[in-house]
Amino acid sequence: MVPAEVVTPERNRMARNLDYRLAKEKMVKTQLIPRGIKDVRVLEAMGRVPRDIFVEEALVGEAYNDHPLPIGHRQTISQPYIVALMTEALELSGNEKVLEIGTGSGYQTAILAELADKIYTIERIRSLMVQARDTLAGLGYDNILFKAFDGTLGWKEYEPYDAIIVTAGAPKLPQPLLDQLADGGRLVIPTGNKFSQELIKVTRKRGNYIQKSLGGCRFVDLVGVHGWKE
Ligand code: SAH
Repeated sequence: MVPAEVVTPERNRMARNLDYRLAKEKMVKTQLIPRGIKDVRVLEAMGRVPRDIFVEEALVGEAYNDHPLPIGHRQTISQPYIVALMTEALELSGNEKVLEIGTGSGYQTAILAELADKIYTIERIRSLMVQARDTLAGLGYDNILFKAFDGTLGWKEYEPYDAIIVTAGAPKLPQPLLDQLADGGRLVIPTGNKFSQELIKVTRKRGNYIQKSLGGCRFVDLVGVHGWKE
């Protein structure tokens, strides 16, 4: 028999899970609610998805902190508040078809998969896409389709999308994404220069595109035909 005070790997893992559950709750209470995130479904999803699974082992202790973290290939997993803000702006109620550009770690993808019907996600760096696909399959998500491609071109095969989210900074709104947005659909995308951007929400209404700013932000580059050149 193992004495109670001995830390077995299993006990260690259970203790860690408990810590993370508390860290998730704290993240929602201190980073999201006070900054104005109101959508209960978004808050619940952020309280459910284990962000620690999406970061490398050396950084798990920082997984629930109030900042982005490196995920390799000079890319980052977005700050929790930015994920919540962008997701809330998509106004998801559960039946939507969502296109995501910039899968990265897959964390934002998991939040979307919790809140909408079907997620189509595109990542230009194949190894990141493969890793995110494994992580998300491991968590049991079965409503996500992956593609290693230039997402500034959209994903024509499955258009139109009720919501489109771009998690990398663009020099301007990529025309294919505007074209692939359903009538009444929402596009959320950071646009600006390479050092700072504005988070823009575009709503398509009968051929008109209505733009609203959600505030300043800083993302890695959106690289592609309708983004920055390599
Ligand atoms: N939502 C991700 C953010 C990753 S950072 C997360 O939370 O982990 C942005 C990602 O966009 C990077 O992985 C980068 O490789 C990817 N990216 C940049 N330009 C792209 C393009 N044209 N098409 C698809 N992915 C792109």
